[in-house]
Amino acid sequence: LGREAPPRRSEMPKQIITRPRGTSDILPADTPVWRYLEELAINLFESYGYGEIRVPVFEDSALFERGVGETTDIVEKEMYTFADRKGRTMALRPEGTASVVRAYVEHKMYAQQPIQKLYYRGPMFRYERPQAGRERQFYQLGIESLGSEHPAVDFEVIYIAFDYYRRLGLKSISIKLNSLGCSQDRVGYSNMLRDHFATVRDGLCANCNTRLERNPLRILDCKEPQCKELAGSAPSSLDGVCAECREHFDAVLGHLREFDVPFDVDTTIVRGLDYYTRTVFEVVHSSLGAQDALMGGGRYDDLVELMGGPSTPAAGFALGVGRAILALRGEGIELPSQRPPDLYIAAIGDSARKKGLSLAVRARSNALRVEMDYEDRSFKSHLRNANRLGARFVAIIGEDEVARDVVQLRNMAESTQVELTEEKTLEELTGSKSLPA
Ligand code: AMP
Repeated sequence: LGREAPPRRSEMPKQIITRPRGTSDILPADTPVWRYLEELAINLFESYGYGEIRVPVFEDSALFERGVGETTDIVEKEMYTFADRKGRTMALRPEGTASVVRAYVEHKMYAQQPIQKLYYRGPMFRYERPQAGRERQFYQLGIESLGSEHPAVDFEVIYIAFDYYRRLGLKSISIKLNSLGCSQDRVGYSNMLRDHFATVRDGLCANCNTRLERNPLRILDCKEPQCKELAGSAPSSLDGVCAECREHFDAVLGHLREFDVPFDVDTTIVRGLDYYTRTVFEVVHSSLGAQDALMGGGRYDDLVELMGGPSTPAAGFALGVGRAILALRGEGIELPSQRPPDLYIAAIGDSARKKGLSLAVRARSNALRVEMDYEDRSFKSHLRNANRLGARFVAIIGEDEVARDVVQLRNMAESTQVELTEEKTLEELTGSKSLPA
């Protein structure tokens, strides 16, 4: 009593549900740019003999714990994990290499060919604080070359990245390179870092204090200013690299010089994933600000074995598609846009609509892009529509055109109009004899 009846469901204002934080919708105005970047990469990877592999977007979370490393930020703080309906712990993949290596081992691909060259593409997921160039769902293109220890493989992988950005027309890139040495060198280097940071332990953040015991290498990627400063005076990984690994690194550098690939040896590059050995590299772009890495990669000679496969040396990289687009825009490089229709059909009245539909079907089977609006509109509003879409031609069909079996074909750029049969219209548009419907 005295209470108002609740509003009926249909009268309630609907609250908009928005996309999750850190994700984006790629709308038709932008998808041509994404497709262009992906197609360029695919053609490039395939020209080097890489074949596409598609792996699941979610995996057993143990895969990344073991592969990427339990004490990495990616696994410790950023992984999207969930229990499935049977209570198994799954994770949305934070990166691609662990999955590719899992598939390589699972399908015994090492037994099929001595060298397997694979590429992948798709979304990756990391629970990071979103900012320009950093999203929670982002897109990577990556390659993995499995089976060879030769320094020419490291060179090839770096060269493909270089070639890609060059073909995109990016100028302000630089390649940064380092060597972490083999797994023994890494242990030695970890000890060196532990000794170094132990003397300044009070100056490190709480996280790095834990890292000091568990994985001192990770202190070098810490974003906290006090840790960054202390990392500045830390020994470099190159100081702890054995003679064989040094020789390997020098051979990689030699190949890069031979092919005029500009690079800097940068001993602060240690990469945020535990599987790397020997060569590690990043390509950075000057317009990207804090998130300046376009891509990262390196050698991972122990990962296949760690995943239960035979000892198999390997190298690869992953590049961020979104960041490449930011860099292209940063350099003002013109990018592809949505292709406008060749023909817009403006039909007025039922019989005209029927004729318009049949013209649309025939034009499309002649490989033309055709737009037809089925609503009842005035000529004026049809023309406005066609203009907005950037249509090259408009076919105007009214009752009179139906009666005489013709169309008025308007060239939008030249504002000229001619009366043609359907046959001639198609010839005009395709520049050749038309195909039947
Ligand atoms: P990583 O596996 O962290 O070395 O990442 C390789 C590349 O993927 C980076 O250089 C970026 O281009 C891209 N990337 C990594 N994390 C993100 C993210 N959260 N948002 C957008 N791009 C990312």
